[in-house]
Parts: sequence; C-alpha cells; structure tokens
Amino acid sequence: MSKIIVLIGAPGAGKGTQARLLSERRGIPQISTGDMFREMKKSDTPLAREIQEIMASGKLITDEITLEMVKERTSRDDAKGSYILDGYPRTAVQAEQLEVLAKEQGKEIQAVEVDVPKVELMKRLTGRRSCPVCGEIYNIYSKPPKNGNVCDLHPDTELGQRADDNEEKVKVRLETYDELTKPLLDYYESSGRLQKVDGTGEVEAIYEELEKLI
Ligand code: AMP
Repeated sequence: MSKIIVLIGAPGAGKGTQARLLSERRGIPQISTGDMFREMKKSDTPLAREIQEIMASGKLITDEITLEMVKERTSRDDAKGSYILDGYPRTAVQAEQLEVLAKEQGKEIQAVEVDVPKVELMKRLTGRRSCPVCGEIYNIYSKPPKNGNVCDLHPDTELGQRADDNEEKVKVRLETYDELTKPLLDYYESSGRLQKVDGTGEVEAIYEELEKLI
C-alpha cells in the first residue's frame, strides 16, 4: 500500500532538509505546505495578501484554505504513489481531514517525529539562510557558505532570509507548534503510527536513521 509519510517537528527541526533528501534519493515527492504558501503569496490577489499577512505573523493559515491546497497538490500525477508531507497536518482538524483524504486515496499514514530540543531550534531558525536560485539551505552558525553571504553554487547570488525567521516571529511559531501541532504526536502514537528520529547531529546521520524507518 502506498504511504503518506508525515514529518512532524517544530519549525527548524530539519523536516524540509530531510524531506528534500528523501525526495532526491528515493524519488518520493516532497509536498511542503510552507513552500506552497510562499509560492502562493507572490501573486497579487486578496487571498495572496491574506496569506502574506498571516505568514508574516508566524501564525497558521486556516484549515480550510490549507486543505484545499493539499487536496489539489496530492491529486496530481506524481502523488499517485507514496508522498511526503512536510508541514502538514499542523492542527487536530487537519489531522482528521488527512484521515479522510488518505482513505479516499487508499493510502496509509506513517508519522515520523523529528525531535530537536528547543534551545537548538532558535539558533537554527534565526541563523537560516537560503539561495533564492537553487533553494540550498545554509546556517550562519553551523553550515556557513564558503564566501560571505553568497551561495556556494551560485556565487553571484546573495542568500536570503525568510521574513518569519527573526527572533520575535520564531517565538510565535514555536508557541504555535507547542499549542496546536505537538498534540498530534499523541494522536499518531496512540494509533501505533508514530516513529521518532533524533533530529540533532549531522544531516546525513539523521537521514540514515529516517531512511531505515521508511
Ligand atoms: P513552514 O515553512 O512549514 O515553517 O511554514 C511557514 C508558514 O506557512 C507557517 O508559519 C504558516 O503560516 C504557514 N503554513 C505552513 N503549513 C501550514 C499548515 N499545515 N497549516 C497552516 N499554515 C501552514
């Protein structure tokens, strides 16, 4: 049976990095609601402006809008088999909606927690930079680019920082995670569908641990 692999972890836990590796190396599509919203907010529509405002505050987009987007994305051809959800579900309502979607698509849900202590998360998020051309992710503390603030692969390109990666917004995002998303761990645990990887340490070591579970 095809799987919906749900990566759960606080902002900065490395879900995106790991999902990207799984997708590159195992060919399982990575579906990131955060990336999709960042793409959507670029257009000039009332919905885009609403999304932009909510995201800038560090809070969550409504469950309805998010579900519509996930439904549309997972109905595409590349999501016919297994796929990875990175950043979804994030609330109890979204988790229930995903149960329905999984049933409709004939897939089973496997949740994996990427666990990182809070003190580490702050550093990871506020230090995060990325290349606007290729999406390569750096960190000024733990994985700095070779030269100044430019991408190693695109030396003419200045690295960018997400608007919601400053200290104040990061605090809101971590609180939102604790309040709304963390309870999902119990939800998946109680139905025997939760596994856990230690999200501290080297990216490759974490990947190895994760790949064994999948
Ligand atoms: P991320 O890149 O996963 O940290 O997501 C960035 C922002 O996008 C979040 O702070 C939310 O505003 C929004 N977002 C991403 N995924 C969801 C979701 N599943 N439900 C609601 N809002 C989301």
